Amino acid sequence: ARGPLFGFIPRHVQGRQIRKALPHSAQYKAILNMRKKLPVYEQMDSFLEIFNRNQIMIIVGETGSGKTTQIPQFVAFSDLPHTRGKMVACTQPRRVAAMSIAKRVSDEMDGESRYKHSCGSELIVAVELGRQVGYSVRFEDMIEPGTTFLKYMTDGMLLREAMNDNTLAQYSTIILDEAHERTLATDILMGLLKDLAKRRFDLKIIVMSATLDAVKFQKYFSIRSDSEASLFKVPGRTHPVEVFYTQEPEKYYVEAAIRTVLMIHRAEKPGDILLFLTGEEEIEDACRKIKIEADDIASQDPDSVGPLVCIPLYSSLTPQQLQRIFDPALGPSQVGGPSGRKVVVATSIAETSLSIDGIVFVVDPGFSKQKVYNPRLRMESSLVCPISKDSAQRRAGRAGRTRPGKCFQDLLRFDYVDPPAPETLMRALELLNFLAAMDDEGNLTALGKLMADFPLDPQLSKLLIASPDFKCSNEILTITAMLSVPNVWLRPNNQRREADAAKEAFTVPESDHLTLLNVFNQYMLNKHDRNWAWSNYISARALAQAENVRQQLQRIMKRLDIDLVTTNDQVKLFTNIRKALPVELHPSCGLKTQPEWVISNEFVLTTRLYIRTVTEVRPEWLLENARLYFDLDSFPNGETKRALKRVQAKNFGLEKSRNETSRGRSRKGG
Ligand code: ADP
Ligand code: MG
Repeated sequence: ARGPLFGFIPRHVQGRQIRKALPHSAQYKAILNMRKKLPVYEQMDSFLEIFNRNQIMIIVGETGSGKTTQIPQFVAFSDLPHTRGKMVACTQPRRVAAMSIAKRVSDEMDGESRYKHSCGSELIVAVELGRQVGYSVRFEDMIEPGTTFLKYMTDGMLLREAMNDNTLAQYSTIILDEAHERTLATDILMGLLKDLAKRRFDLKIIVMSATLDAVKFQKYFSIRSDSEASLFKVPGRTHPVEVFYTQEPEKYYVEAAIRTVLMIHRAEKPGDILLFLTGEEEIEDACRKIKIEADDIASQDPDSVGPLVCIPLYSSLTPQQLQRIFDPALGPSQVGGPSGRKVVVATSIAETSLSIDGIVFVVDPGFSKQKVYNPRLRMESSLVCPISKDSAQRRAGRAGRTRPGKCFQDLLRFDYVDPPAPETLMRALELLNFLAAMDDEGNLTALGKLMADFPLDPQLSKLLIASPDFKCSNEILTITAMLSVPNVWLRPNNQRREADAAKEAFTVPESDHLTLLNVFNQYMLNKHDRNWAWSNYISARALAQAENVRQQLQRIMKRLDIDLVTTNDQVKLFTNIRKALPVELHPSCGLKTQPEWVISNEFVLTTRLYIRTVTEVRPEWLLENARLYFDLDSFPNGETKRALKRVQAKNFGLEKSRNETSRGRSRKGG
């Protein structure tokens, strides 16, 4: 077997397979010096001791202590997975985190490690992202089979792999990171791994968390009566944090937060600021406002206020854009002047997923955008909600990692909500039942098995599979791809009117879904013109991504023998697509909008309630194509039910009783 081909060499491996390591690059040494200061690095030996003695291990450590970047490296050196054709996996709830941390770790392992192997031959190994260290997120696989030994991946991807291979044979150790986030995928993985550990004695499992509910995980994973899963606490909060509250909840929390940031910039000692807001638009807007004001202050008072950079952080940024959060603040703008300051304006992704050094001040209005399932609407909505007490403490903890910090938690004093319960799982099963993917006994149906082959939400998989029946699978394939990538519309702040006019030109009045189809088709027709996307205020990056996603989904459809068809009748085509859409999506019950009936992909509640990506449909299509949702016997009473009853009487009056008896399965509960 070959020795390790990478990075540092832990003591227990030294001398065994490697005689001598040749010098590393300067970058490697610089990063290694930083790594050595991380609490996790200091604990390497005690970690390895516990890891070697136990099958299952729970790790708790504060954000920034080095869990995500260091532990998987230690494990890889201990396991030597590549000598057995296996890999170490580390899961992340967020795809950007998986991508950016894989990049960081490949840098940490160094571009140009050189080792002299015990057999005498010298190995010069470039550890590269996508080769020895890789990542796997939905629609993007950056790994090299046979070479990759450390793989960062989303929890969703590992769950998907578990569906195809329930022994997860590729892995020697599986690390579930960010377990405190309690995402549905991580929760299910915990159950699967607990069971798998009893069958695969060679598989090691590590559950990492930033909070102390780790004891709960420890209890859960105590699979043998004679031994508990071992708990490893990484010591190390470095400095205390002062927390300031405002007396009253602030209604205009964005404005209040911006004021607070500027106040800190003007009056407080040097140190970077982390501001938590809820979403892309709010963040970009705040960055712009802060920058304008700060430049103004600096030009009026250059002797006491230094230059400020404002960096946004949210999930649809590319890993390269995201890397900017790690840039140091600028120096003084004049000799002897005050030093610069960095402000990172982030979503809750900065709570634990990505740790940024040098943050001294945290401004936290106490809100985040959360996906909340509303059982009455049977729909998931993006909702700006007050954060939980746990989250607030984690946010406050983001200051003071390297020196004492302050947290301006100005706008709290809410009744805290708890993170959503595992009830989410029940809802998911209910949804699968409605989609006919799962039978009443909880087994996947043939349709459900087909659906599981697509890396998509069940509704969208169902839509793709049903689309040939409506003679529009080519088009539905495009729409599905477009729904799977970030927003394609660009809306620069100083050109909003032009951008809106450009969008108008693509708009299909009765349907946003058809509008997306239109944009994609135009993009394909104009691919030779490199300026086309830009001059139409359309994101070329998002469209290229959509094209790639479309190809991947198309390959899956081919493999599953799902026909790619388009009806020749152009007039019918649009109606067919709109008819196909009610097959998969939830009713937007109770909405008082024009038109009367719509289906929608997103339901957003902020100060107002609105829906996004909407297509007008006819109510009789709902009754015809989505019978299980719109089973009027169990439909909740109300205006919607009365309206549907009228539609049913008008369109299906005679057929009703026949359907009633011929239908094989019925919705339970409701
Ligand atoms: P934890 O998982 O315990 O929160 P991490 O392993 O993510 O900690 O982070 C350890 C350290 O590595 C932190 O100081 C963080 O700022 C730093 N770090 C992580 N990613 C990068 C990066 N891409 N560039 C520079 N520093 C990074
Ligand atoms: Mg981490």
